[in-house]
Amino acid sequence: MCTRCVMDTSDPDIRFDGDGVCNHCHTYDETVKREVFVGEQGRRLLEDLVVKVKKDGAGKQYDCMIGVSGGVDSTFVAYKVKQLGLRPLAVHLDNGWDSELAVNNIHKTLEKLGIDLYTHVIDWEEFKDLQLAFLKASTPDSEIPTDHAIVSLLYQTADRLRIKYVITGYTARTEGIGTPAWSQGYYDWKYIESLHRQFGTVPLRTFPHMTRKEWLRFRRKQVWIHILDYVDYVKKDAIKILEHELGWQYYGGKHYESIYTRFFQGYILPRKFGYDKRKFHFSSLICSGEMTREEALEELKKPPYPLEMQEADKTYVVKKLGITEEEFERIMNLPKKTIYDYPSHAKDSRRLVNRLTWLAYRAYAKARQKLL
Ligand SMILES: [Zn+2]
Repeated sequence: MCTRCVMDTSDPDIRFDGDGVCNHCHTYDETVKREVFVGEQGRRLLEDLVVKVKKDGAGKQYDCMIGVSGGVDSTFVAYKVKQLGLRPLAVHLDNGWDSELAVNNIHKTLEKLGIDLYTHVIDWEEFKDLQLAFLKASTPDSEIPTDHAIVSLLYQTADRLRIKYVITGYTARTEGIGTPAWSQGYYDWKYIESLHRQFGTVPLRTFPHMTRKEWLRFRRKQVWIHILDYVDYVKKDAIKILEHELGWQYYGGKHYESIYTRFFQGYILPRKFGYDKRKFHFSSLICSGEMTREEALEELKKPPYPLEMQEADKTYVVKKLGITEEEFERIMNLPKKTIYDYPSHAKDSRRLVNRLTWLAYRAYAKARQKLL
């Protein structure tokens, strides 16, 4: 385990320096230095951005768009954006797994803030089939379909309504640490599609998605602003503000506003793959100074969430996905796979890198032979 954060060798790609500090800590420091602006500098940069957003959006119904999940970060973004005098449209993806608390949070807070909400309800038969396909494919990436649908929905909605700015709740400060081995491919439609072709049965007709080409086209037209990079964002304080001013309610762990996410991250990932995502969540908070290493270690001794709740979730998830307990156990025991076992852009890139490395090595060997 890293001597500074709580990442350990359950990340197969982790590396340590001479002091026992891991590569994630170093990457975190570099990223935060590059992307996060504190104090006066952040305030000034944000002010400039707000002027720009207002100017470009003058005369339009909305000058920006935000994605909402009912969680802390996205709700705080809604609060902040309104405070800055912007006129956002809020977009929510309902994938069928929202907890009641999350839905209440979304409606209550947006109503208080006077922000319009557009909810896209995903076709459940398609989505269920896709989620099952991912479970059967046995990779740790089962949350990718939701992530991909959310970003696709945001890009496409902004494109349709000609909204130039999308304001996100992502910040390297509290989310800077992550590892591809534990989950990757959420921009990789080739991966999602190929995996569904192999394990799915219901055609994906309406599932929000985008190819890499479409993504590049959207990126040329839109500006995505990670607004929390410019404010002195401290999660604990944000929670207090949201509770007091908007009547928002806390729901527990990170991303636990969705029942499937809670179950996947708190049950399937740790039990089947040995990955506990709390480790990189806590590690980010340790690096940002919002949590001590001791607190994180103490917290990690507990199960990801209460065991009775895990069992209740299991019954619920199995039933909702329309499978039997036996089928679920069979899925849990399938040999583990990764994105590289399936057709994907990730696999193509790796193959290209391998090929180039081999060509370079061969050229080097030949040149050396000549010299000898
Ligand atoms: Zn570390």
